[in-house]
This record gives sequence, C-alpha cells and structure tokens, in this order.
Amino acid sequence: WQEQMPRLIEAYLALKRNGPVDSTDERDMWHIEVIGLEGITTHPFVHSDNDSRTNEMLVRHGYIGASPEKVLLAFPIALLEVYRQIHRVCPRYSLGTLSRTLTNLAHLGIRHRLAEQLSTVYDAYLEIMWRVDVSVQCAMGREASWYMQNVCAPFLYKTRNETPLKFSWLGCMDRNNSLKLVDSTFRTGTIRLDSHSTVSSRWLSPEQVDIFKDEVAEAQKVSSKINDDPDSYDDLQPNGDVAWLNVNKLSGAEADELAKCLDTCVEWWKAAGPEARKKMFALFAISGIFLTVCRHGHVVVMCDMIRSSEL
Ligand SMILES: [Zn+2]
Repeated sequence: WQEQMPRLIEAYLALKRNGPVDSTDERDMWHIEVIGLEGITTHPFVHSDNDSRTNEMLVRHGYIGASPEKVLLAFPIALLEVYRQIHRVCPRYSLGTLSRTLTNLAHLGIRHRLAEQLSTVYDAYLEIMWRVDVSVQCAMGREASWYMQNVCAPFLYKTRNETPLKFSWLGCMDRNNSLKLVDSTFRTGTIRLDSHSTVSSRWLSPEQVDIFKDEVAEAQKVSSKINDDPDSYDDLQPNGDVAWLNVNKLSGAEADELAKCLDTCVEWWKAAGPEARKKMFALFAISGIFLTVCRHGHVVVMCDMIRSSEL
C-alpha cells in the first residue's frame, strides 16, 4: 500500500474533482465483485493507460480493493465514508459488525474473511484521508505549532488593542478509567509488539510527559515551605510558571463557582477509595488517559497515565 499511496491520493483527488470515471465504455472493461450497502454486485471497471495499479484504477471509479495487488473484491469509498462517521459517534460499531451488516443486507452467509478485508481497505482509506489532510494543512502553511496556537479560537484569537483578561485561558484536566492496559507480568502468552503510532499533535508521548516527572514532588516541597510562611505566596512559581488558581485567594462569585467544582472533584476522589486505587496501579501498565480541555470543550492535549495516577 505504501508504495502505491502517492498514486492513490492523486486518483482520490481526481475522483473528488471530476467524479467517478465513466465505466460504460466497453473497451478494456473488466469486472470485480463489489460489496456495499446496496448488496453484492459485479461492477464494471475501465482501465486507463495512466493507471499503473489496479487500486489506482478502482479509486478513480470510487472504490478501493480488498488487497493491494491481485484484487478480487472491492468496497465503495462511499461505504467507508459512512462507516467513518458511524464509528466516530459509536466507537463500538466495529468493522466486524459492519461486515455482518453487509452480509445481512446482501443475504449472504457468513464470510469469515470479510472483516479482515474491510480492515485492510479501511486502513488504506484512512491513510489516503490523512495524507490529503496533511497536504491541505501544508499548502495553508499550518504546522503543529499552528494547531496549538489555534486550538481554541475564543481564547487564543487576539485582536489589536484587546483588553487583557484577568484569566486569559480557562481549562481543566482530568483522567478517565477506560483504555487501561494490563501489565504484561499479569498476562499469559507472548507480548505482540504494536507498531501503531498516533499522528495527532494533541497526543503527548511518554518521553514528552517524563520531562515533568519530578515537578509535582518539587512543587510539593516548595508549597510546604510557603504554607509555613503564608505571606510569602506569590503568583509566580520558582520555575517562572504562573501558579494554579488558588480558591482561597479569589473573592465573591468567582470563589463560590470554583468551590462548587472542587466539591464535585473531592466527592469523586472519595468514591474511588485509596485501597482500590493501589490494587489497580499494580495491575495496569497504563491506568487511563489524562486529558486537558479548554472551557469550550476543545481537547488541547492528552496522554496515557503510565504507572501513575492524578498527582
Ligand atoms: Zn476554548
């Protein structure tokens, strides 16, 4: 797939620009089995001299083959577009479920390899989508740093002579309890290496997170000193960072609103008892996801919680 990807992208852009190739020309016509929401059919395809690969020709018609070479089965790109949107709102709707949906629609018996074939095609489709997206972002001069500067327009878009706000950015961080990974020492069998990596700039790698691994312990040492001497509190931390909002230093409505949030957090914290947590951390190599969102709900960054909990 990787080798033919540049040509598939070209074919995909041509498909979006000009629509599917007319396959009524009887010369050089050949047929491939197609499974889609309409059922199972044998679709005619016309080979053009410019097409060096079967899949390139299929993409020009609006289809992708179930294998990179020697294609015997193809799926409509429209089906993959529909599945992508269904999966976004319902992640439990898997490719296995889609394959059963398709066989039911087509009144077919169980096709054991269909889910695997869909998976191959869907990976290729996502790769095309991603590479097209990267090209668009590149053409518009947007790199990873652009994303970070524009992740939340209400907070980060500044106009000339804008009055600075007391808090220029409000966000919150929290973790979840899903997406755990059981440590390999508690599992039987052999570890299978996962070569997948994310392409999202929102996702922080363990190495990026580890830079701050000693920060909480250091800050706790400093804050215990500050607590001994309440007059020494300053808005700047020793490392130059701005301190977190201190509920005791706010007044009136601001403090009330923040206090309500804190109460909720404390309740939730109590609900997951310390004993339960201790056991959990021994069992899981990754105990969940930690995520930062802005006030408007835009996800800013997230990372795996590896061998740790909220600090
Ligand atoms: Zn926002």
